[in-house]
Amino acid sequence: MDYPGNLFVVSAPSGAGKSSLVNALMELDALVSHSVSHTTRTPRGQEKDGREYHFVSVQQFDAMVQADAFVEWANVHGNRYGTSRRSIEERISRGGDVMLEIDYQGAAQIKRAFANAVLVFVLPPSLQELHARLLRRGEDSPDVIEQRLANAVQEMAQVEKFDFVIINEVFERALFDLKTIVHAQRLKVAAQRRARADTFKSLHLNLPE
Ligand code: 5GP
Repeated sequence: MDYPGNLFVVSAPSGAGKSSLVNALMELDALVSHSVSHTTRTPRGQEKDGREYHFVSVQQFDAMVQADAFVEWANVHGNRYGTSRRSIEERISRGGDVMLEIDYQGAAQIKRAFANAVLVFVLPPSLQELHARLLRRGEDSPDVIEQRLANAVQEMAQVEKFDFVIINEVFERALFDLKTIVHAQRLKVAAQRRARADTFKSLHLNLPE
């Protein structure tokens, strides 16, 4: 189905900086919003229920899976994460752009459900830098950091299934890259026809549906 809004998926190994990039983009661009996922993992640091995630029990998560409430869900680092169908369909059908910060397994499921979704992968500039960022973040225990680094190598091998790749070496440059991807998507003929229907009409562009 073709929705008036655009759907973007941003995936990255943990510590590559995708949340900071998406948050910075949303500050600059009021048309972009992100969907708050459900997860069975426990909150970290300053995280608040309903802001970073909806924190739910395994039983609640399973009930949502049974009720077909998720458009995608996956097991990541030993916990379950999912995107509720309602959180995205409502907004993209009203013409908003939605950005999902999810793992590569979820990205593949989204592409199957929404053929026009744009998949973006964020890479760190090196494994050393990824390790340093996870340590600096100070949110995870050393064994969790080791697990996330080991997973990172396997996750990064999925990059070829994505449409775009951003290397997050210098933050401002990476943000520019993300803005460019969003902007290019809005300039696609199909998107312009939806957004600027009046202009197309006044130019007598009676294009086939
Ligand atoms: P974290 O626990 O560090 O917040 O997230 C761990 C991983 O789960 C990240 O790669 C993040 O993108 C992914 N993730 C977060 N929400 C979802 C979701 O709704 N679906 C899927 N498939 N992955 C998610």
